Amino acid sequence: MTKPILLSTPHMGDRELELVKQAFDTNWIAPIGPHVDAFEQEFCQIIGADYAAAVSSGTAAIHLALQLIGVESGDEVFCSTLTFAATASPIIYQRAKPVFIDSDRTSWNMNPELLQSALKHRACIGKLPKAVIVVHLYGQSADIDPILQVCNHYGVPLIEDAAESLGATYKGQHPGTFGCIGIYSFNGNKIITTSGGGMLVSNNADLVAKARFLATQARDRAPHYQHSEIGYNYRLSNVLAGIGRGQLCVLSERVAARRRNFEIYISSLGNLPGVEFMPEAGFGRATRWLTCLTIDPEAFGADREQVRNSLSAQQIETRPVWKPLHLQPVFSECEYIGGAVAEDLFRRGICLPSGSNLTNEDLERVISAIASVHYGNKKSQTPLFMI
Ligand SMILES: *Cc1c(COP(=O)(O)O)cnc(C)c1O
Repeated sequence: MTKPILLSTPHMGDRELELVKQAFDTNWIAPIGPHVDAFEQEFCQIIGADYAAAVSSGTAAIHLALQLIGVESGDEVFCSTLTFAATASPIIYQRAKPVFIDSDRTSWNMNPELLQSALKHRACIGKLPKAVIVVHLYGQSADIDPILQVCNHYGVPLIEDAAESLGATYKGQHPGTFGCIGIYSFNGNKIITTSGGGMLVSNNADLVAKARFLATQARDRAPHYQHSEIGYNYRLSNVLAGIGRGQLCVLSERVAARRRNFEIYISSLGNLPGVEFMPEAGFGRATRWLTCLTIDPEAFGADREQVRNSLSAQQIETRPVWKPLHLQPVFSECEYIGGAVAEDLFRRGICLPSGSNLTNEDLERVISAIASVHYGNKKSQTPLFMI
């Protein structure tokens, strides 16, 4: 039977198991312990943040971030539209209202000009949002400088959803460390994983201390159990933090492997008519967490769904680019600012298998499968790819 090739699978290094065993040997099987503390410190060192709180998921980190900023019932939060639902779901947990913002073509991320004009308009009518959540999509930073500048100008806190972009840079600095709060995810499909987990970072010590407090059931300082606020059970397990510490050791290798996948894909498929790869914006280095491209059906001779289905029949998993949140049934009542950039990327965009553990044979299979959709399965015309 043909071996399935999946989109993005976990890729353990040499140290994870040993660190997990340490947790067992010392009986730190709890959502607290030395691995949790060390994971936070090592994470801060790598990305250049001052403080971090390890939590149970990226979604939990976003929820805490909104809580820390004081987002409440009826508040509005501006948010990138081209992203996974988990970016915006916590806005709804807070009974606040998302307002979605379109992408730009150079980074596929939030269009800074749209944000500027929207905030300017909102300031005029005295209805500024409580926060802005910018997403760094598919391993590429958004254009942070103009976004941060306009947020600072109007005094609106910026939350960065860097769940997909650990290891990327923006002008040499790590996305997630520019705004008021940054969040990361260690879900199984992300660039490094703890099976499930997340991190909240900030340069504000009080915010991170408050995040830890809320993430451990908001227990007041008292010998008995006393609570003046509602908290959550959002801390990361010490066992999983052990996996995370091991994964941090190989982060740069994982980034290099994913960028290599991208290079191989673009050198083999980049010249096919109608194929356009997600650009790497000039302001930074993308990790290529997922290699994404768009297909122009006229020029290519098949549309995105035909390509996806053809690959699926050959046990190759691909995914359409995120369906913009303003087009999701659950967010259909929400306000939307922008045009049809994100929508177009969704209709024509596809994410290719991108794991750091793909073999050359895997890549060759994906490349040949895509090329043969274009060449109409005329095997004689299908160029042979040698990596
Ligand atoms: C994965 C992801 C999340 C959620 O992270 P979890 O750890 O799965 O909760 C949030 N935002 C984006 C953009 C993601 O890709």
